[in-house]
Amino acid sequence: MNGPLVPRSDFPLLAAHPELSYLDSAATSQKPASVMDAIREYYTNANANPHRGAYRLSGAATDAYAASRAAVANFLGVADSDTMLFTRGTTESLNLLATAWGRANVKAGDRVVVTRLEHHANFVPWQQLALEAGAEFRIAELTADGAVDMAGLARLVTPNTKVVAFAHVSNALGTVNDVPAMVRIAHGVGALAVCDGAQAVPHLSVSVDALGVDAYAFSGHKMLGPMGIGGVVVRRAILEQMPPYQMGGDMISRVGDERTTWNVIPHKFEAGTPNVEGAVGLGAAVRYLAGVGMAAVHEHETGLGALAAERLAALEGVRVLPSGGVRSNGVVSFVVDGVHPHDLSQILDAEGICVRAGHHCAQPLMRSLDLAATTRASFYLYNDAQDVERLVTAVGGARKRMGY
Ligand code: PMP
Repeated sequence: MNGPLVPRSDFPLLAAHPELSYLDSAATSQKPASVMDAIREYYTNANANPHRGAYRLSGAATDAYAASRAAVANFLGVADSDTMLFTRGTTESLNLLATAWGRANVKAGDRVVVTRLEHHANFVPWQQLALEAGAEFRIAELTADGAVDMAGLARLVTPNTKVVAFAHVSNALGTVNDVPAMVRIAHGVGALAVCDGAQAVPHLSVSVDALGVDAYAFSGHKMLGPMGIGGVVVRRAILEQMPPYQMGGDMISRVGDERTTWNVIPHKFEAGTPNVEGAVGLGAAVRYLAGVGMAAVHEHETGLGALAAERLAALEGVRVLPSGGVRSNGVVSFVVDGVHPHDLSQILDAEGICVRAGHHCAQPLMRSLDLAATTRASFYLYNDAQDVERLVTAVGGARKRMGY
């Protein structure tokens, strides 16, 4: 566990900047050369608008896009690959659900339930849907150790609840939720179980089919892929019944003067020219991750996260936030007495250490913790124990610099 799980030289940015300890992979990961190469190869040999041309090059683009869908669905443990829609990422995936499914299914007097852990992307769309529909919006609170209070969640999920939306892994604390238990609670009243997998897919071996969720969202850029691509897996029966999200090219079957009919899934939900470059890059990213093995990725970063949490907590004036009772991934959020997280991240930056400071797009969570911000270090497969040492030494030094 002392060295990185994969060579830093696989990642051009890390190779070009050996001075950096990049500890912000929960925000976005670095990209391996194989992802960049796949994009270059696509533009060199297969670029055309897919689904539209009768010529062979357009067929090559269509094939590249379809092959990436199959590869990503396979990586996610999804047997019916057409139920994996490409989107711009988790944010668009959750907005798609709240807009297309939500407006058709949530009415006045219904209830919408989320948890206190949610990223704004899995909070605000549901809150706004509830406001528009005249539905109740309820938030399941956390226990003192940063886990969702499951008994509290079960009490909130009443028979009028139409959707329960929850993260698989919290970006702010690192809590890993018991997804099957949450699905059971949602399904107990016939509610839709929506899971935000943005922080899970890059770090855990995820089988969406086995989790039993109705919808599962993720982002490519956090899992070695490019920005601007991600997806959402939705049960076929729900996709069949759900109205489209956006209208335009490709998503139609027949456009009459009065009425229009929709294309088959997944095209019904992918209006306009798709992000083929992004899909190709994401396909290469999942090949890279599968080659390393997600069990190894998880073990490596959990080890680094646990080491960092232990070493930081041993420093005077440093409080590591709880992450659901067990530290089971590579996210470590902490606060340092007398040093604002933004100042701390700038001090660390001067030493080549990239960490995130702020509310982590989780203001409802920060309010409940009575904090404006935390500093968050997040580890991935290219990090090593030396990164942890540099972080711990620099945090200790920062306190001294501030006169403690
Ligand atoms: N949910 C979680 C848990 C996240 O960590 C993030 C990214 N910080 C998002 C949603 C939003 O993802 P994106 O910005 O890629 O759409």
